[in-house]
Amino acid sequence: MNHSYHLADRLSNLKPSPTLKLASRAREMKANGIDVRDFTGGEPDFDTPEPIKDAAIAALKSGFTKYTAVGGIPELKSAIIEKFERDQGIVYKPSEIVVSSGAKHSLFQIFQALVNPGDHVLLPTPAWVSYPDQILLNGGVVIGVPCLPSDGFRLRPQALLEAITPRSRVLVLNSPNNPSGAIIPKEDLLRIAEIVKKHNLIVISDEIYEKIVFDGQETSSIASLVPEIRDRTVIVNGVSKTYAMTGWRIGYAAGPAPIIEAVETIQSQTASNPTSIAQKAAVVAIRSGEIYFKPMLAEYTRRRAMLLESLNAIDGIRMSPPDGAFYAFPDVSGLLGKRFGDMEIRTVTDLSEFFLAEARVALVPGSAFGSDHHMRMSFATSPENLEEGVRRLKEACALLT
Ligand SMILES: *Cc1c(COP(=O)(O)O)cnc(C)c1O
Repeated sequence: MNHSYHLADRLSNLKPSPTLKLASRAREMKANGIDVRDFTGGEPDFDTPEPIKDAAIAALKSGFTKYTAVGGIPELKSAIIEKFERDQGIVYKPSEIVVSSGAKHSLFQIFQALVNPGDHVLLPTPAWVSYPDQILLNGGVVIGVPCLPSDGFRLRPQALLEAITPRSRVLVLNSPNNPSGAIIPKEDLLRIAEIVKKHNLIVISDEIYEKIVFDGQETSSIASLVPEIRDRTVIVNGVSKTYAMTGWRIGYAAGPAPIIEAVETIQSQTASNPTSIAQKAAVVAIRSGEIYFKPMLAEYTRRRAMLLESLNAIDGIRMSPPDGAFYAFPDVSGLLGKRFGDMEIRTVTDLSEFFLAEARVALVPGSAFGSDHHMRMSFATSPENLEEGVRRLKEACALLT
């Protein structure tokens, strides 16, 4: 690095999102004419439903192209408030809602508002790649709370209790979880709520995969289960995953007014407001409930079943059925320690390199999420792509000795 640029110290521990980095390598290979099958993506392959697009077009044509209220247009806040009441039975006021440029942006600003340098943030692991870096960027210290494969990666209250330190301020929950798909059962959430109260924690509950659940399972928000916890929780959600709207950049947070107000102040000095016409589109998306979403869920369900069968037919790979989200997170430890010619596959990173080079298949090594025995394969992609991807993986695995 050229030190004459004087980059700030806070960058020293920061790394680019490993999933986005792998995706860009896959894109580069594709640009060079190599037929790569990319399963790194955390975004739906479906197009945004037409009526949602139409709302943005109408907003654009009518000249709705100026700054809006910092925390979101009243119409969108109303739609969000209706959604919380309808789906989760939680009642919020407009002063308890803030709309941002994606849930990732919401999360960053919440960490900004809550974390002092040196504060400990409890992060159940495996965890989505952006949490640790967002926490670090805000001076926080990540305290991993191990979630074990033998528990289906569900956060156990006892594990949380054992991880708590005197400096613990914030607990991050992500159920259904990216990458494992795990849903925290209601009875565990109730016990977690007791721990949160006792240790005076604030919960950030990332519920972006709230609706992507399988086998009729239910998700509950900790904020809806225990009334006192509602005022210790900031729920984060957005339209990206449920409505196939990743590029629109609309996410939102709901929680106690003082925290939401702090987030809004930060946003007023950094982003001003989320995109005007995307907010209009989000109103239609959120008000649609599950009309557009239902067929997408049916499709995810079929793909999940297909992967369960085909991945488990590969020697060395063991996939458990995810409760929710759209990722397979198979255990690949049966392949570690094997050799490809002179090369020894020692780690999941080695394995991901091997798959990219030999199978032309891009998967994210579990180490990116804090798990050294798993790989993440997104099934938010076409069945044809999944079939071909699995076929190549099987062929490549057969080359290992
Ligand atoms: C995709 C994802 C997000 C970010 O969603 P955006 O609204 O597109 O920023 C947040 N949390 C998790 C766990 C995700 O997988």
